Amino acid sequence: MTDLHRQLALLYEVQQLDVKAIGIHRHTQSVPQEIKKLETELADFGQRVEAKKIEIQESEKKQRSISGELELLTEQRNKLTMQMRSVKTNKEYEALDKEIEFLDQKEMELEDTILELLERVDQLNEELKEATVELERQQTEQLNRKKEYAAERTELTKNMRSMGQQRKEICQHLDHKILSQYENWVKRRQDTFVAPMRDGACGHCQMKLPPQLAGEIPKTQEILRCPVCRRVLFFISCD
Ligand SMILES: [Zn+2]
Repeated sequence: MTDLHRQLALLYEVQQLDVKAIGIHRHTQSVPQEIKKLETELADFGQRVEAKKIEIQESEKKQRSISGELELLTEQRNKLTMQMRSVKTNKEYEALDKEIEFLDQKEMELEDTILELLERVDQLNEELKEATVELERQQTEQLNRKKEYAAERTELTKNMRSMGQQRKEICQHLDHKILSQYENWVKRRQDTFVAPMRDGACGHCQMKLPPQLAGEIPKTQEILRCPVCRRVLFFISCD
């Protein structure tokens, strides 16, 4: 006759393997999501860098167009200055003077705008330099994370395979009835089924068992459960 406690101890080994396999499965599923999230962040960051490049180009274009306007103003002013030489009346002179004054004012405003644009471009270039370095750093990090994950996955797949083999071997020594009881419980509850009794306490929830139950467990060949967490308890003596 097969000893129930020996059977439950084997089942406990199967359960440990299953818990580990579920953990690995969860982990291998969560990493791609993490990588995907990082990828989205990286793409956003790349877009911000591109936006900066575009702003620089536009500022430089605007600056060129204002420089063109300034050249036209200078030409206009030169013309007016020439005209001034040949004016006959005070009235004509004053009118020209006013026009020149207006052009001077306009020129000053445009020069201010150019200065502002130059400063903005300088600042943007500085920001772009920093952002590019950061982007490259993040891209390298992302690439390393992917490589790490691929290596980890290979290792975990290997572990899973050997764990599967181990499980198969243990199950050959297991009573089918107990095994299917375990599998049904796990399917229904998504939780563990069996726990060892240690120092008179449940090895799952750590609750101290009533002395009568604790005394009965090592002797019985019947399935007894922890009154608190409902785990099936077994006892294997250490000697
Ligand atoms: Zn318990």
